[in-house]
Amino acid sequence: MPTRSRRPRRDDALSAALGYFRDLGVREVHLPSRPGSPADPAAAGSKAAPAAEAAPSASLGNIAPAGSSLATLRETVASCQLCGLCRTRTQTVFADGSGKNRLMFVGEAPGADEDATGVPFVGRAGQLLTKMIENGMGLSRKDVYIANVLKCRPPGNRNPEPAEIASCRPYLDAQIDLVKPVVLVALGKFAAHFLLETEEPITRLRGRWGSRAGIPVMPTYHPSFLLRQPEKKKEAWEDLQQVLRKLGLPIPGRKGEAGS
Ligand code: URA
Repeated sequence: MPTRSRRPRRDDALSAALGYFRDLGVREVHLPSRPGSPADPAAAGSKAAPAAEAAPSASLGNIAPAGSSLATLRETVASCQLCGLCRTRTQTVFADGSGKNRLMFVGEAPGADEDATGVPFVGRAGQLLTKMIENGMGLSRKDVYIANVLKCRPPGNRNPEPAEIASCRPYLDAQIDLVKPVVLVALGKFAAHFLLETEEPITRLRGRWGSRAGIPVMPTYHPSFLLRQPEKKKEAWEDLQQVLRKLGLPIPGRKGEAGS
């Protein structure tokens, strides 16, 4: 009898992803419960606990030992099915840029344009971010590294849910580990909350250096917010000037001024 090839199941992708993290030394990841399973609060008849409580964050040490690479991580992400966003995405959106200058920007989640192209920050907000990097900071977008907290687009561009952030957390942690940025820029509240592990509003966080695993983090406004509130661009520019100073780079338009 001819053997029928078995369709890849969710479990295959899950074990591939878990195997990858196990090889990297990860000991704990959050897995959302399946609808109807005993672990599903709805199935158990209980009121769902807040997702943040229900979703213990992955505990990660140094998860990118020698041998792992951004290329293999990108492949793992491309087949990820750790949360429901895999059912609505067109494709995953991993990162853009070489990270050659060791400056890393972290945004929130892909939007429609990013979901269609697979590249972060290519829509209207992305065009503004590119201008901020190139025209404002005098850097080349291809030399920085740009990634998001979530690798898949939340439908209708809704906010990321805590369980989705928890599922995706090891990927961004691994990217940071592999890129080894000298400075991280958190674009907006979700990136700032992820990187700084705080719930403080972005209005209080922006412009003040924080740190993630010893790497300086500058929280600033998200470019989408700046499109809606262009008068806030001045503050964002002040934040980016601090980043340039930290990197020891000159501030365009200020002759002779270099880093401190
Ligand atoms: N907004 C984000 O936070 N990330 C993108 O990639 C695009 C828009």
